[in-house]
Amino acid sequence: MFIQQMSREECLEALAHARLGRLACAKSNQPYIVPIYFAFDRAASDDAYLYGFTTLGQKTEWMRANPRVCVEVDEVKAHDQWMSLVIFGTYEELIEAGNQAAEHRRAIELLQERARWWEPGATNFVAKAQVDQPKPFEPIFYRIKIHEVTGHRCGAIPAAEAPDDIAISQLRIRGWLRRLLRRVSVRAANKLP
Ligand SMILES: Cc1cc2nc3c(=O)[nH]c(=O)nc-3n(C[C@H](O)[C@H](O)[C@H](O)COP(=O)(O)OP(=O)(O)OC[C@H]3O[C@@H](n4cnc5c(N)ncnc54)[C@H](O)[C@@H]3O)c2cc1C
Repeated sequence: MFIQQMSREECLEALAHARLGRLACAKSNQPYIVPIYFAFDRAASDDAYLYGFTTLGQKTEWMRANPRVCVEVDEVKAHDQWMSLVIFGTYEELIEAGNQAAEHRRAIELLQERARWWEPGATNFVAKAQVDQPKPFEPIFYRIKIHEVTGHRCGAIPAAEAPDDIAISQLRIRGWLRRLLRRVSVRAANKLP
């Protein structure tokens, strides 16, 4: 097993193919995280954004109070074949009128590339309306400006890069960890699963 750090460019490339993430926000030292669908876009200025659709609820109330958010995205093919991204960003609601009108249109355009993009956000509204006092339906288009993105990718170690036995024995590490490293490097060298 070999874990590699991804460059910003590799992270943005991976985001272009992703649709599902976990959006974390926080209020009064209490974190809150929910799954969301998003669409990724990169502006000409090289600023990058995630666009999403939702309705009023806990996360929108919390993000209005504190727009600093974190999004996690991952793709897991096997226990030793995965990729994960962590994004630090700022939440911003897009208003249909005024100087945000173009961005509001852009959000709809990008989200529409996925069929039934509106469903999770709207379904939550309908579910709540059945138990709470009915509230006006308030569709919210938003974007998250990506300030920082980091990525880790895990795959098999290329045999040429597997640490050899001498290198491992020279490491000042506990016995069980040394044995584990040996096993992993032998498997990689022999290309065993
Ligand atoms: C695959 C997937 C994709 C989704 N995509 C979107 C999307 O693009 N847009 C969108 O608006 N919503 C999406 N949802 C639903 C989303 O995860 C939230 O449930 C929803 O947005 C409501 O969040 P809220 O903070 O407004 O909840 P509220 O209704 O205000 O939450 C009230 C309470 O309900 C609980 N709760 C809320 N959401 C969840 C949850 N998902 N799981 C368990 N408990 C919960 C929490 O305890 C919370 O305190 C998606 C869900 C899934 C599974």
